[in-house]
Amino acid sequence: MTVITNHLPTEELQALDAAHHMHPFTTGSELASKGARVIARAEGVWLTDSEGNRILDAMAGLWCVNIGYGRKELAEAAARQMTELPYYNTFFQTTHVPAIALAERLAELAPGDLNNVFFASSGSEANDTNIRMVRTYWAEKGKASKKTIIARWNGYHGSSVGSGSLGGMKGMHAQGGMPIPDVHHINQPNWWAEGGDMTPEDFGRARAQELEAAILGLGEDTVAAFIAEPVQGAGGVIVPPDSYWPEIQRICDKYEILLIADEVITGFGRTGTWFGCQTMGIRPHIMTIAKGLSSGYQPIGASIVCDEVASVIAGTEFNHGYTYSGHPVACAVALENLRLLEDEDIVTRVHNETMPYLHTRWAEMADHPLVGEATIVGLMGSLALTPDKARRAAFASDAGTVGFICRERCFANNLIMRHVGDRMIISPPLVISKAEIDTLIDRAWLSLNEGLAAIKAQGLYVAA
Ligand SMILES: *Cc1c(COP(=O)(O)O)cnc(C)c1O
Repeated sequence: MTVITNHLPTEELQALDAAHHMHPFTTGSELASKGARVIARAEGVWLTDSEGNRILDAMAGLWCVNIGYGRKELAEAAARQMTELPYYNTFFQTTHVPAIALAERLAELAPGDLNNVFFASSGSEANDTNIRMVRTYWAEKGKASKKTIIARWNGYHGSSVGSGSLGGMKGMHAQGGMPIPDVHHINQPNWWAEGGDMTPEDFGRARAQELEAAILGLGEDTVAAFIAEPVQGAGGVIVPPDSYWPEIQRICDKYEILLIADEVITGFGRTGTWFGCQTMGIRPHIMTIAKGLSSGYQPIGASIVCDEVASVIAGTEFNHGYTYSGHPVACAVALENLRLLEDEDIVTRVHNETMPYLHTRWAEMADHPLVGEATIVGLMGSLALTPDKARRAAFASDAGTVGFICRERCFANNLIMRHVGDRMIISPPLVISKAEIDTLIDRAWLSLNEGLAAIKAQGLYVAA
């Protein structure tokens, strides 16, 4: 048996990885010939790879390590819980302290009457729960025909068959038989790419009104819910125009459509308040949470459900749940994560200090010759790359060609930024300091300079 430690040479680790490990959202053969970067340890906002490079993680892993890396309190909470009660389920009329305490804490933190928590181990699972919960809700109300869920193109809600169907990623739908029936997609509020000559406000309202048109087209008595991220994350950090969410809220109210806010990224301080629905001024019936709930230290997700929906669901046996719903170790770690966020005033600090500073520095990125717009809300931002700022033009090359080149330059400069098509995005740990923000901006600027030189050299600096 090979003992795999961080002390093997990088090439050996890469070869073993290529031989046996299938990576998500990756062309395996391509990665195998190139070799994956091996991350060995991390502290604060800094990763260290197997070659000893220190890398600024401006993505907080996958939008999740909000508290930063290396918090011993979370490791100790896990060890304590594993010693006391490593596992028990919550199925057969049993419960345990970590699940009780975390559900109570979440009910306290969540706005309005979002007082009821159904646990899962991921955002995907929680959204699968939501599909079944909203349909069961309407069925129990005697309106079983209300089962269609309206979602958005380029939204992201997870990668299981159910949640991937809610998502509007066409590349995902093309593989493995998605979407499931009774899911309908409307267009996203991406003004920069799709707004044409409209003002952002008019465009935002028009895109929101696609919801009303869809409800009327499908029939009001067939629609169960609308699901959306307060700010699209994986779709490229698309910040909707100010007119968008008020109009969506009006339409959901008017037609009595349940509103599901997928807060998997926007929850727990990411947008400068505890939840994205507070930043956007909306009143969801259900919130999906995961990622920042445990800062990624344990896999956990949940649906936080309003009193009305929960009370109807409570009237029947809900034939749904996961072996690890309310896993005690995951709950204990999430509780400790929330305690640290509060005791250290991290969300307030983001709102009052880091966020205004990052917004000022991020706005400077709009002066870079490659950047068409620099948008940001809280600590999630994006740069739309363009060969022609005035026309908001796309590149002539396949979407993502230029973004990929720029991401590679970031990687080479020890900065983790992601690209979505030809947008570059960030979502750093909430504990990032002002000095680290300066480093982030310096490295991003340098990487875009190098990216610009590379795309010019390859003849890619051409508008569509
Ligand atoms: C990541 C994500 C999910 C899926 O969460 P997993 O834990 O990867 O299953 C769902 N919704 C949004 C908005 C996400 O960003």
